[in-house]
Amino acid sequence: MLDYHIHTIFSDGEVDYKTVIELSIQKGLTKIAITDHFDPFDKHQRNYMATYSDLKSHFDEIKSYSNDKPITVLCGLETCTGLDGKLRLSNDVIEISDIIITSPHYIEYDGTFEQGNYFNDGYWNAYKQTVLNMASGGGHILGHPEGYLPIRPMETAGTTYESRQEICREICDKYFDKDYVDELSKRLVKSNKACELHGATSTPREWVVKQMAENGVTFSVGSDAHAMNILGKSTRAYELVEKYSLNLLR
Ligand SMILES: [Zn+2]
Ligand SMILES: [Zn+2]
Repeated sequence: MLDYHIHTIFSDGEVDYKTVIELSIQKGLTKIAITDHFDPFDKHQRNYMATYSDLKSHFDEIKSYSNDKPITVLCGLETCTGLDGKLRLSNDVIEISDIIITSPHYIEYDGTFEQGNYFNDGYWNAYKQTVLNMASGGGHILGHPEGYLPIRPMETAGTTYESRQEICREICDKYFDKDYVDELSKRLVKSNKACELHGATSTPREWVVKQMAENGVTFSVGSDAHAMNILGKSTRAYELVEKYSLNLLR
């Protein structure tokens, strides 16, 4: 079993890498990627000031700790891009990273917002354009393209985790249609980038996974665990792997 999307206290995870590794072994995972946030452009990340050398020491510590453990541990990161989808990381950072996940955490959109109105056509078109460009851009995995949508600019106070998930599902159904999924697939295949089967939010929608698989897309299994209760969460992912004979990033 794999889990290619895990956070530690290096970014906004709840435990350190040692705990992640020990718990992963206990859960029977055979290969994991520790993929903390690393995005100098994302002021919402508490470690957005982290430097190349911070990341390098983090990776060195992970490697020396996991060296003699019965599990393979990859050192990676999760980052966002601008509208053009291109990595905004130095070559040094890219070189030391085994896995780079690009995820649409925010959209650089200069239109207007109305609080509580989530169906903002201009914004979701910018979102789709960003994700399409990310699919064509650098990195190995497109992270949660249908989960944890960046609804923050429209959010009203007191929005719960559950209502946020429901809003995201409605946005997917309204805006992310078959033509978009086909175009996204085409770009992922061309750039040899995997689409994430996101454990935390159980996304993408099943018909999207099926359609992407038919279009030749490769997938990656990632829990996106910040809290360790969902570390290795992949039951749905492996059911889909089985059901649609998905090609997995291994
Ligand atoms: Zn993310
Ligand atoms: Zn994440």
